Amino acid sequence: MYFRSDYNLNRMQFRNFKMVGYVVFGRGSFNQLDGILAPQRKAGAPMVFLLDHYFKGSALEQRIPLRGNDVLLYADVTYEPKTSQVDAIANDLKQQYDTISGIVGIGGGSTMDLAKAVSLMMNNPGSSADYQGWDLVQQPGVYKVGIPTLSGTGAEVSRTCVLTGPTRKLGMNSDFTPFDQIVLDPELAANAPANQRFYTGMDCYIHCIESLEGTFLNEFSKSYGEKALQLCQEVFLSNEPWGEKHDDKLMMASYAGGMSIAYSQVGVAHAVSYGLSYLLGTKHGIGNCIVMNHLEEYYPAGVAEFKQMVAHNNIDIPTGICAGLTDEQFDTMINVSLGMKPLWENALGKDWEQIMTREKLRALFEKL
Ligand code: NAD
Ligand code: ZN
Repeated sequence: MYFRSDYNLNRMQFRNFKMVGYVVFGRGSFNQLDGILAPQRKAGAPMVFLLDHYFKGSALEQRIPLRGNDVLLYADVTYEPKTSQVDAIANDLKQQYDTISGIVGIGGGSTMDLAKAVSLMMNNPGSSADYQGWDLVQQPGVYKVGIPTLSGTGAEVSRTCVLTGPTRKLGMNSDFTPFDQIVLDPELAANAPANQRFYTGMDCYIHCIESLEGTFLNEFSKSYGEKALQLCQEVFLSNEPWGEKHDDKLMMASYAGGMSIAYSQVGVAHAVSYGLSYLLGTKHGIGNCIVMNHLEEYYPAGVAEFKQMVAHNNIDIPTGICAGLTDEQFDTMINVSLGMKPLWENALGKDWEQIMTREKLRALFEKL
């Protein structure tokens, strides 16, 4: 997902990776957005704000620094982002305006990914589906800003934006994909419902376990992964009621967890969860939790702690979601999952194909 699997085999090819341009962190830092955007505004070209539809009519919407002919769009994130959705937004904007000054995505991982993808499609021809893969994007996008309202995915720092297209679910991975600016204001995550906050937060926890337990691990990934893991433990095993401290820590955990996998890779939970998501539409955070619940064989300590966190926070993890599926449906999930080669290689090593056979993976899917 983040780089080709030959990266770690050839020690001469270290990834020279593109990072986010500017980062502001702090409670209330959202108020600086107007000033941050000012130098990016081009005469006559609107700034486009893509706001998670959850915030429609909210106090946060009132605080968006709209000026001149700026555009406010709501991101419908009922389903995870699709290439058709990205194309529709980008084509509409292209038809209405010669150019736009930039796009600001305010929301969870889905909204941030949509904003990244629309930014790229403003300056690249064709459909976003043409760019699902690695380093296919040819031109930089328009100026883009990410402002998370949920913590965990690491989408704020990653070089991808995950999209479901006509034939696959895969990101537009490129050096043009990371945001130019991110605004990390933990106040924006304050009202997230406990279940959603947990599922998205566990995405970060699972990033840490998969990175730290993976064969691609290096000191760079380890440094970020260990810190993110510690923050997740402090947040999800805390005996104090949820408060500001928790939101602050989880927002930084998400950032650091994202940095950790940027230089390593995710593993078994993500590879299996992609299969669920493709066939059943299971969302990323909850899908990872459903899978993690059954991965004792691969991540014994991480799964034990995950279960402790589930119990401690009174969260329900669905079970039996693969009951009644046909052989053909299991095959589809197995194909999608085994296609995530770098993830398996990171998790199980170069000989992963001998370890994770189709039969073994089928047995794992049946347990979910
Ligand atoms: P999400 O963005 O899908 O949002 C989940 C739900 O929470 C939505 O209903 C949304 O409206 C709501 N929501 C958002 N902020 C809220 C708030 N503060 N209070 C209450 N509700 C709020 O959830 P997510 O887990 O952040 O993101 C998942 C998406 O991120 C998936 O599409 C996944 O593919 C993607 N992802 C991307 C990367 C990457 O590197 N680009 C990494 C992991 C996941
Ligand atoms: Zn993830």
